[in-house]
Amino acid sequence: MLGAITGDVVGSVYEWNNIKHKVFNPLFDPSAFFTDDSVLTVALMDAIDRGVDYGKTMRWYYTQHPTAGYGHLFHHWCKYETELPYNSWGNGSAMRTSAVGYAYDSIEEVLEKAKYFASFTHNHPEGIKGAQATSACIFMARKGATKEAIRTYITNKFGYDLNHTVDDIRPTYVFNESCQGTVPEAIVAFLDSTDFEDAIRCAISLGGDSDTLTCITGGIAEAFYGDIPYEIAIQAMHRLTPQMRDVVYKFYDKYRPSETIILAHKMASQFVSANPIEKDDEFQEKQRICWTMVVKDEAVKAASKDVDELNWNEDVCNSTDNIKHKDTISKKIQELFKL
Ligand SMILES: [Mg+2]
Repeated sequence: MLGAITGDVVGSVYEWNNIKHKVFNPLFDPSAFFTDDSVLTVALMDAIDRGVDYGKTMRWYYTQHPTAGYGHLFHHWCKYETELPYNSWGNGSAMRTSAVGYAYDSIEEVLEKAKYFASFTHNHPEGIKGAQATSACIFMARKGATKEAIRTYITNKFGYDLNHTVDDIRPTYVFNESCQGTVPEAIVAFLDSTDFEDAIRCAISLGGDSDTLTCITGGIAEAFYGDIPYEIAIQAMHRLTPQMRDVVYKFYDKYRPSETIILAHKMASQFVSANPIEKDDEFQEKQRICWTMVVKDEAVKAASKDVDELNWNEDVCNSTDNIKHKDTISKKIQELFKL
């Protein structure tokens, strides 16, 4: 969910401008934005949470975000309510499925629901398989399965070849909008990663359909590594609309209570809704410091000294010798805003 959304947002600027390396900075390009992957991920969270028809829900979200980057056939399907599923094998079924891995409690039910939600549009066997494999990875990861258990299950059940590394795939991988040409690579990016952020970076480094591939990787990585780092969660949440943020918040509250999501929801709302004219100088200064810390997260990662020794100003945030780890930054942000 927010891991998938993070992957979509980070990848949004690389889909048509691939990069083949992991060391891009900042993680969120200033112009990064949510695309159809996030819209339809949120639509599924909303439909599951409210127990309403996913087809109608997708069409409603389409009306709210008609230029989010959908495929030609999806545009057509959304415009005409009488349209039937169009036998797609595109990676859209996998990019929107992450909520399935959280909302159901057995692998059988996860596979059945993944097929059901894919089949509104992607009723081709490969479209269904991509959604099922992605959902199964997420379900297994959140239940504590090891990477090797996930690799073995997915290989045996779906026949994807996961015996590669990101470094093997990267040199020859090119844009591919199919499930069968995106999902295995996205899973490998997760399997090769060391933490959530590394998974996002591994996926981006493959190139291809960057927003969708990274969306799929991000959803799995979130389930495996646990809460998304706080600074990343804020930045992803911040880029959604208030309506989308509220859906994310409600879904987590019901299916996967998370302090990080509560805080990210609150912070993102404050940043977007805060009217500087109505806020006092102290609030504005805190906000400026906070964003400086968040934007400098690459520098933050290299930090080592105790936060109490620091003066919280921009020079400090720019100094890689003198900044503590991200977790301490998170605590400081919480203290600043008394969250
Ligand atoms: Mg997209």
